[in-house]
Amino acid sequence: MDDAALHCLQQTFGYGEFRFHQGEIISQLINGKDVVVLMPTGGGKSLCYQIPALIRPGTGIIISPLIALMHDQVIALQQLGIKAAYLNSTLDAATSRQTETAFINGQLDMLYVAPERLNTSAFLQLLQQTPISLFAIDEAHCVSQWGHDFRPDYIHLSLLHEEFPHIPRIALTATADETTRNEICQRLNLQSAKLYLSSFDRPNICYRISEGQSNARSALLRFIKNEHENEAGIIYCLSRKKVETTAQWLSEKGLTALPYHAGLAANTRKQHQQRFLNEDGVIIVATIAFGMGIDKPDVRFVAHLNLPKSMEAYYQETGRAGRDGLPADAWMVYGLQDVITLKQIMAESTAEDKFKRIEQYKLDAMLGFTEITGCRRQALLAYFDETLSQPCGNCDNCLSPVATWDATTAAQKALSCVHRTGQRFGVGYLIDVLRGTENERIQKFGHHQLTVFGIGKDFDTRQWRSIFRQLISRNLLSVDFQNFGSLKLTENCRKILRGEETLLLRKESRQAKSARKGRKTYTNETTANAMLWEALRDCRKKLAEDNAVPPFVVFHDATLVEMLERQPLNREQFSRISGVGESKLEKYADAFLAVIKQHIQQCSTDSHDTITETLLLHRNGLDAAGIARQRGLKLSTIYTHFAHCIEQGELELHEVIKLDQQDINLIHETLLSVEDGTKKLKPVYDALDGMFNYDVLRCVRAAVV
Ligand code: ADP
Ligand code: ZN
Repeated sequence: MDDAALHCLQQTFGYGEFRFHQGEIISQLINGKDVVVLMPTGGGKSLCYQIPALIRPGTGIIISPLIALMHDQVIALQQLGIKAAYLNSTLDAATSRQTETAFINGQLDMLYVAPERLNTSAFLQLLQQTPISLFAIDEAHCVSQWGHDFRPDYIHLSLLHEEFPHIPRIALTATADETTRNEICQRLNLQSAKLYLSSFDRPNICYRISEGQSNARSALLRFIKNEHENEAGIIYCLSRKKVETTAQWLSEKGLTALPYHAGLAANTRKQHQQRFLNEDGVIIVATIAFGMGIDKPDVRFVAHLNLPKSMEAYYQETGRAGRDGLPADAWMVYGLQDVITLKQIMAESTAEDKFKRIEQYKLDAMLGFTEITGCRRQALLAYFDETLSQPCGNCDNCLSPVATWDATTAAQKALSCVHRTGQRFGVGYLIDVLRGTENERIQKFGHHQLTVFGIGKDFDTRQWRSIFRQLISRNLLSVDFQNFGSLKLTENCRKILRGEETLLLRKESRQAKSARKGRKTYTNETTANAMLWEALRDCRKKLAEDNAVPPFVVFHDATLVEMLERQPLNREQFSRISGVGESKLEKYADAFLAVIKQHIQQCSTDSHDTITETLLLHRNGLDAAGIARQRGLKLSTIYTHFAHCIEQGELELHEVIKLDQQDINLIHETLLSVEDGTKKLKPVYDALDGMFNYDVLRCVRAAVV
């Protein structure tokens, strides 16, 4: 490990250690070697070139297609005391000239440029005039025609190597598939560069998918109100109209929800995006056009009200949640209509057959993913050729295992109904026939006389829609869009019809449950922690406004959470918090320390909250006996307070109870085996022959619930 690099990480960026391959990648670059980096969103790609650019002599040139983002990136770097600037088409001539002069004079650590610049001889000449430390090619998949964001200007980036053969290059992307990766290496002439491939797992994202179109909006509202009140989120819809109506409906329900789609005026879009970045708790409702070039780390949820058309799109869109590594949700509801719409878009595509087949394959994979009953994360990673050996424990299917049911007979009824009615009708009509609904159309076609008429009364319409959806998703039925969406049998359904294969389907009785067990949110608490949390956020907001930057540029939520948990009292303690480097220590420490001090004073005079007082004394280093003495309370009362704090996630068990893991396990098992629903501890105490006192048992129990 390179000492200078680690020093830079700690002093300038305020982080304790490197993540994943960061350290190695940085060493390679410092030593003048080329590298190719594949890392998921939020993995920490930027540090991989920023640190070597600071350490190597000369200016680091960063090529990025995301013009909208350059300004934000540069501002964030300046906050860290780094001399960064950018050149792109949004600058006026005078500012451009100023930047160029600073560059020529060697006054810049880093210069961000748009790819089209590199194709001008004027710019290449400029590059010749000052030492360059490295070239970073961000979003390198833009060079790939197979990938999803091809940019012709990227093709010419191979020229960097020709003109500056001795300057190391780093290409970075969050696109994982092998075809794209190979194309990057080949087109940028990076075949001999060392490749760093990280896991694409995003463990902090909880994947949740549920079915049900009719109540989708209210399910969404409940999800936001229950789990993400006042937090930032993105909601994706397929159409502009749905974006508009959803944003309006959520606004009427008291949320700050802003629409974003290509049909809005440019300045409205810009304004909405700015509010999303700068204010707390703003929700953007968008078509998929929104997201590329949004670098907000504290997006706490991404919700889909429609199915994305591929796993790549799903991964990329959900990946915009939780870049800061704190828990985040990827939440989706979808229904039969989605499946039909996507199949229709595909059927009407004018692409070449070869691409159509690829699109079809991608859609089928997406549909399969929604219906699986096993771990979502395992399936998602498997799609990108990565193996996760254990179920993740942080997706809906892991958190509340899905029941399946034998749907063979139901499927046979549905398929026969399609067959008997001549493969000419859509879902609504078929369900009417199955349920034995007498109506004019059915009479007209004489279908009330068929043997299948009324054989499906044991399911209601909603259940039949779910069955049809799953049959279509599994390609047991196909939709004929030339014929008004009528359903047709496929080759695959024969085995089911002949009874040679059983069909297990998901039971749809549940909504994706909350995964939030044990997650710390400070927003909805009424305790001292919640007050301090709000005070810290207010302080950040004010500093952000004073400095004209978004709040997360001052500090990320993760840094605020650490402040809240550690409650530093002086600059030295403050500097140990992750995310606090030298520059930010200088700029912001005093303001936050003042908030924390004031909070502590207020709490100690505020005797109403007796549990908080116990907690504060504990934080000040007193043990249970000491607190009992000082407060004139019984020892058992103090332990009851501790147990409460453990339950609230404000204390860890080991902070107040000294037990080894074996003893804790023994108590756990006993708690489970004698659990009688009364919450009495006496049976547990007895079962353990009085080996542990009630205080210990109470605290251990608090840690398990
Ligand atoms: P990417 O470009 O890969 O999406 P970023 O470079 O924006 O990711 O990094 C994501 C977040 O993780 C940023 O807030 C960054 O400051 C933080 N980060 C990166 N490396 C580290 C590290 N070694 N320790 C702590 N935080 C880190
Ligand atoms: Zn899982």
